[in-house]
Amino acid sequence: METQRVAVIIEDDKDIRDLLNAVLQQSGFKVFTAPNGTEGVEAVRTHNPTIVTLDLGLPDIDGFEVIRQLRLFSDAYIVMLTARAEELDTLMGLEAGADDYITKPFRPRELRARISAMLRRPAPARRPPRPPRPRGRRRRLRLPQGTRRPPQHPHPRP
Ligand code: CA
Repeated sequence: METQRVAVIIEDDKDIRDLLNAVLQQSGFKVFTAPNGTEGVEAVRTHNPTIVTLDLGLPDIDGFEVIRQLRLFSDAYIVMLTARAEELDTLMGLEAGADDYITKPFRPRELRARISAMLRRPAPARRPPRPPRPRGRRRRLRLPQGTRRPPQHPHPRP
């Protein structure tokens, strides 16, 4: 069974949040939203999204700090939303670990195009492999799904 892709929207402006929500749902995502950085980091931790949209101007935590906190545990594709005047912010955000940015106001079509470009990209090429975790490595044994076969007959049928 293929699980639905998840997106988390971290945005304090309700209108923009609703617009992002609509666009991402149209693109097939299951969407969770957070109105501030603290709840956003928790939402990413809980839902393990493929994509995160992050407004840099949040009421509680600085957007760059949100990126840094997310990068401690998440490989999600982070798209920053910035105002046009914040070009330096964009560079700082990319350095902090964001993958892409969109300037506000944006057109829904532009966001949709970014998302489909992101989904076409092979995930392993996006980021160098992470260093091994400090605590003992745990390997999950994964059985391929849907490969279970009915028991074979011990003798071929006549
Ligand atoms: Ca804002």
